Amino acid sequence: MRALQLTDPGVVEIRDVPVPDVGPSDLLIEVGAAGICHSDLHLLDFPFKMREEPLTLGHEIAGTVAAVGADVDSARIGERGIVYLCWSCGHCSECASGNENVCLAAGRTAMPPCPGLGPDGGMADYVRVPARSFVPIGDLDFCQAAPMADAALTSMHAIRGAQDHLTPGSTAVVIGVGGLGHVAVQILRAVSATRVIAVDVGDRQLELAKRCGADVVLESGSETAQQILELTGGRGAAAVFDFVGVDATAQTAVEAVAPNGAYRMVGLGGGAPAITADPSGGPGWPWGAPVRKSYGGTRRDLIESIALAQAGRLTVEFDRFTLDDAHDAFAKLRAGDVNGRAVLVP
Ligand code: NAD
Ligand code: ZN
Repeated sequence: MRALQLTDPGVVEIRDVPVPDVGPSDLLIEVGAAGICHSDLHLLDFPFKMREEPLTLGHEIAGTVAAVGADVDSARIGERGIVYLCWSCGHCSECASGNENVCLAAGRTAMPPCPGLGPDGGMADYVRVPARSFVPIGDLDFCQAAPMADAALTSMHAIRGAQDHLTPGSTAVVIGVGGLGHVAVQILRAVSATRVIAVDVGDRQLELAKRCGADVVLESGSETAQQILELTGGRGAAAVFDFVGVDATAQTAVEAVAPNGAYRMVGLGGGAPAITADPSGGPGWPWGAPVRKSYGGTRRDLIESIALAQAGRLTVEFDRFTLDDAHDAFAKLRAGDVNGRAVLVP
């Protein structure tokens, strides 16, 4: 079969590889679509190898069960679904409590194994997944469904975790209206009555934010926090969801979040100085505002995201590429030239 593999730092190629073996409690999935996440670009930029042998990329996977392991009910063959990306241990106290995204077996700061980051991922004809990590999607289109696995899961988790702040009439800010952000705007619309301000650097992204239901769109820059303060009567936003996570957006978030408001840092841009600069609460960082580094989401977040999509209340905008066009797709994502999510169809 064909697979898009990271062979060396920064080097991605399509290679012929064997169809994966399936263990007793696994499924073999024929891939229908695989989303390209900005995290894949971060992976490409790592100056070291993720693992010794080439790694098949792709952690947003939709497809059909093609074969099952010996311990799995063969009735599952033909099931359509997406892959839940936290391949957690399933029995530590966090997993047992439903918090599989912070599985204790992964250690204090690592994340549980995730296809395309440790085990082989879904930018291939087939992928092996644990049977318990495949969630049905009914007749949802594969290109729509694949981004549910991360773009929706992660956005839903960040928003659900800030739900207490999202009272009717409050203001939420979404920074970065790409794959995750355009989904986050729609989830905010669907699960709260908060006013949504969307922030991005590109006109195309701001247009996308409006289509997704943002009430106000702002160009990202040094004035953004001040504009948010003006729009909120000087108080600031009840919640800021940062899907970029660079120094500039962290600064905006710190300056724009309300006292007792929530700052959720989802983007992995490496920004931190604004947060660490003044832990005592000086200018910029208001009293009572917690910051949370948010990773992935729970099964419940995934199932609720799928339900929103099935109800027509969450629509992923995507640009479709074939596996052969993957280099072009990665370049477009890096250049900010993708509408919503780039999705590969093998
Ligand atoms: P994306 O490239 O699709 O979208 C990023 C958006 O941010 C783009 O629209 C871009 O124009 C915008 N942007 C860039 N610089 C900006 C700035 N200074 N101000 C405002 N907007 C700016 O990326 P994505 O796939 O949505 O991922 C977003 C981030 O979230 C990445 O860093 C990714 O690695 C991370 N991520 C984290 C998790 C997690 O669990 N924590 C999960 C998935 C993705
Ligand atoms: Zn991702």
